[in-house]
Amino acid sequence: MSDLRDLYQQVILDHYRSPRNFGALDPATACAEGYNPLCGDKVKIYLRMDGDRVDGATFEGVGCAISTASASLMTEAVRGLHRSEAEALLASFLALMTGEGEDGVPLGKLEVLSGVKDYPVRIKCATLAWHALRAAMEGGDTETVTTE
Ligand code: ZN
Repeated sequence: MSDLRDLYQQVILDHYRSPRNFGALDPATACAEGYNPLCGDKVKIYLRMDGDRVDGATFEGVGCAISTASASLMTEAVRGLHRSEAEALLASFLALMTGEGEDGVPLGKLEVLSGVKDYPVRIKCATLAWHALRAAMEGGDTETVTTE
């Protein structure tokens, strides 16, 4: 199990040091900002929808390793998904973080963040980008969400 933890740690650090899909998305069809005052994490999610399909997702911001890695992994995970699939993934990820259920859709690579749920103070770091994604998908215009 500790080997698995080490591997998860490595993936998180890799995404923190070399975030994927980092930067503004132009053109974007929606964006939303998230702020986690507990840790100081700030993230802005850019989303481009092609009808009901996620054509692209990127992010900008400053934050800790967990919030950055989570945003990076998320932008990779949602690309190409149908809106309903992205929403299911979002719900499953939040359920994993809050320990409210194991029977969502398969999370694949996002499982690397599963260890975070053992550290309640970091859960908001991990879910920040996801709350912003939800705001972007629902709002369609610039929205700001906060974990508080
Ligand atoms: Zn944080």
